[in-house]
Amino acid sequence: MAEDLLRAEHISKRFGGVVALDDVSLTIRAGEICCLVGENGSGKSTMIKIISGVYTPDEGDIYINGHHYKRLTPIEAIHEGIQVIYQDFSLFPNLTVAENIAINELLASGKQVVDWKEVEQIAREGLARINASLPLDAVVETLPAADRQLIAIIKALLANARIIIMDEPTTALTQREIQALFNVIRELKQRGLAILFVSHKLNEVMEIADRTVIFRNGKKVLDQGAAGLDIPTMAYYMTGRRLDTSAVTFEKIDETAPPLLRVEGLTLHGGFYDVSFELKAHEVLGVTGLLGSGRTELALSLFGALPADAGRIFIEGKEVVIRSITDAVAHGIGYVPEDRIREGLFLDQPIADNITVTLIERFLRRLGLLDLRTKSAEAERWIRHLEVKTPSGELPVKTLSGGNQQRVVLAKWIARSPKVLILNGPTVGVDVGSKVEIHELIRQLAHQGMGILLISDDIPELMQTCHRILLMRAGRIAREFRREEITEQALNAELVAAATVESR
Ligand code: ADP
Ligand code: MG
Repeated sequence: MAEDLLRAEHISKRFGGVVALDDVSLTIRAGEICCLVGENGSGKSTMIKIISGVYTPDEGDIYINGHHYKRLTPIEAIHEGIQVIYQDFSLFPNLTVAENIAINELLASGKQVVDWKEVEQIAREGLARINASLPLDAVVETLPAADRQLIAIIKALLANARIIIMDEPTTALTQREIQALFNVIRELKQRGLAILFVSHKLNEVMEIADRTVIFRNGKKVLDQGAAGLDIPTMAYYMTGRRLDTSAVTFEKIDETAPPLLRVEGLTLHGGFYDVSFELKAHEVLGVTGLLGSGRTELALSLFGALPADAGRIFIEGKEVVIRSITDAVAHGIGYVPEDRIREGLFLDQPIADNITVTLIERFLRRLGLLDLRTKSAEAERWIRHLEVKTPSGELPVKTLSGGNQQRVVLAKWIARSPKVLILNGPTVGVDVGSKVEIHELIRQLAHQGMGILLISDDIPELMQTCHRILLMRAGRIAREFRREEITEQALNAELVAAATVESR
């Protein structure tokens, strides 16, 4: 069993009437990456400040390297090898890389004259410790956040850190930079350091944690080895609510793959403005917002029904022009409308015909080119594939239940194998059972490689199906929720905020 470097026991901390921590214990062990997880306000930063001597707890004891502290001071914490890397990294922005790395040693040495050779030597050794290479004479403020973070880590190492605490360290980093940081963290762990990684991004925690500690409302609600912990379980402990998504596995998306659909600065006057996003294969991207937020107009633009006034659309990296529905269909975009009865189906026509009648095929029919036998075989295949509950494909669509009607609309588009499928309110007006099945179907389509744009204001639906969600407000993308940020509370709060702004 690894050595306990730090034990904080029965810590309580109040700020006025707010109980920030309530009888919380936390152990930090050598060679272990411990992730501290919790929603905003759950007490994570307060705990960090207590174990680094910034705050004194109202109750509780701290043991570090066998020494007992009732009142730990910041200097004592540093002497015990505790180093906190804050989000701003606490660097001198107008000094160079070498100067920032060496400054503590320079100050400690008390020398009057700075020996630049020595500064460079210290910096080089520091960089070598984490196998990093940075230009020694670059001014720190010109560097990206990831590089500044490396400097902060090196400084911590040079200060003889045994425990490195990182408070939400990935906030300003790109996906690649996050991976580079994780490599550094693993390297530190190999050398026997303890890492306390504070985050609320559960996918990162999944990737990096040896042990996971979860705080909720100032209490520790979970402390266990990372093996066997999954995101829904963590989400449950964070929020205290069992989310329906616990049963759902989301398709893995290849983050390095080029997007299926890329939209840049798309604008439709009176509808939406400067909308940019990417959609990958296997991804379900939610678009939510109140009625009038521009979400349906956006869908109709991508589908060519309301061509955009400005902006660019790329399909598989190639720029395309979508001026009409025919253009959209030719580029592999499918659309299932909001009002399936009015827009999507010919209720009196046979189910089979509804499946095979897409706009393109109507053109073909006009030209007399449609092969009727292939058509009905194709329809039967989709009826079976999507489990449309009907005794015969020759019955009119109006004989089907709402959920099954929606399957027919979906089948109609899936039969054309679109690359990108836009679903607008796919479960509006269907019963609960069918809803669940349609969600399953959406996940299946994503599994097969389609990129899906799901327009919906049904929060559980978005949670059940989406990898990411774009929130539109007054025609613009107001916020993007990544998977780990998607909670019912967060979405509700944003929609309520949007409603307040828009009703002014
Ligand atoms: P987290 O880092 O998990 O988001 P914090 O530890 O920052 O949470 O905050 C926990 C609770 O304590 C919150 O309710 C916060 O408002 C409160 N709190 C934190 N620091 C202070 C402070 N200095 N003064 C008053 N309240 C504080
Ligand atoms: Mg915090």
